[in-house]
Amino acid sequence: MNLARQIEQYLPRQLLELVKDVSGQAAELGQRVYLVGGIVRDLLLGYPNFDLDLVAEGDAVKLAQQVAETSQAKLLAHHRFGTAKLRYENFTLDLATARKETYARPGALPAVTPGTLKDDLVRRDFSINTMAISLASNDYGELIDPYQGKSDLEHRLIRILHPGSFSDDATRILRGVRYEQRLGFEFEAQTVQLLKRDIPMLDTISGDRIRHELELILKEKQPELAIKRLAELGVLPRISPFLKGDGWIAEKFDKARRLKKPSQLPSLYFCLLIYSFSEENIEQFLAHLNIPAKLSRAIRDTLRLKTRLPLLDKSSLKPSEIYYLLREYEPLAIQANAIASDEKEGTPSLIVHRYLQLFLTKLRYVRTALDGEELKRLGISAGPAMGHVLQILHKAKLDGEVSTRADEKKLALSLSPKL
Ligand code: ATP
Ligand code: MG
Repeated sequence: MNLARQIEQYLPRQLLELVKDVSGQAAELGQRVYLVGGIVRDLLLGYPNFDLDLVAEGDAVKLAQQVAETSQAKLLAHHRFGTAKLRYENFTLDLATARKETYARPGALPAVTPGTLKDDLVRRDFSINTMAISLASNDYGELIDPYQGKSDLEHRLIRILHPGSFSDDATRILRGVRYEQRLGFEFEAQTVQLLKRDIPMLDTISGDRIRHELELILKEKQPELAIKRLAELGVLPRISPFLKGDGWIAEKFDKARRLKKPSQLPSLYFCLLIYSFSEENIEQFLAHLNIPAKLSRAIRDTLRLKTRLPLLDKSSLKPSEIYYLLREYEPLAIQANAIASDEKEGTPSLIVHRYLQLFLTKLRYVRTALDGEELKRLGISAGPAMGHVLQILHKAKLDGEVSTRADEKKLALSLSPKL
């Protein structure tokens, strides 16, 4: 099958020019280059994807260096892995030297040596990711499909390439579920049997790699689908017995999407995903997955605030009281609790939900009109006294007792003789 016409139609003109430049220069070096993996899959499905992965039979770093010398591209090379990134103004191209992999033991990172395109394809995860398109001039556009990936795409199946695949690299369990749910596919019958058999092999994977795969899942359009499937398959409990993938998660993730920009969603999803943990049992999870400091803070705050929500469950709290109860928590943690708390009319936590929303949308942005400099001009000296006045002004502003600059001046002057 030849896909030359599809490539020409599918890729933006500018990107196509870059690809042709690379393949032309490869030919001069006596190398063959191919489009591989996700781009081929998505091209056949007609889904947009302009993250191009190219594999070269030959030294990809040398090729990338030559391309960078004769173009505007910025080069990022990893000699040790035989990979390079070419960064252009609007696009990036990933180039890799075709490689052969062998696994010393399950879960270990593989030993890598240069190889042919076929070697490079057999080491991959699923048949649908194991297709390539030749970019060489004599067979430009030719589909290379050693594992019937195209047929599996047509039958909407996720299939591993050999029975030891999941035990070689159990992150493929998480990757497979991600593709299955993203594309609306199903695992092929034997693949799902082997997946279930190899769930314990997740224990051979480092926390960093598990976290990375979870992050990829949380970047999907509807991550709750993969989370639910992971729960059904019995994968989630192997990562942590406290992780849940039920209807609650689906409902809250959906709500999160309506509130936050896509770039902030993965962290918010993380805080919702761990909502069923306690303050005690979260620590092991954070340490094992090596969660970065900023997200760890938001996660700890989420659970700390969860246990303190009853403090907010009073109908007559003043805005300043709400502010002082909540200001010590990460905004993300407050957002997670606002989403987690029930907001149906007549439910006990509606009031809590409203207070959390009030803090997020208004109270946290309230500032006094007067600052320290202006207070000095009014004769209030710097130090604890001034801090005290500023705090009283801020509270009064939060509670709507002052609104204009003049109000604040009046209040400040009325306080100063007492100080
Ligand atoms: P997408 O980026 O849309 O999720 P992709 O196919 O581009 O899909 P990447 O994670 O960018 O996925 O990986 C590129 C290719 O590398 C994949 O298509 C797959 O063939 C291969 N690959 C990635 N991770 C693994 C793995 N753990 N085991 C085997 N092959 C892998
Ligand atoms: Mg990719």
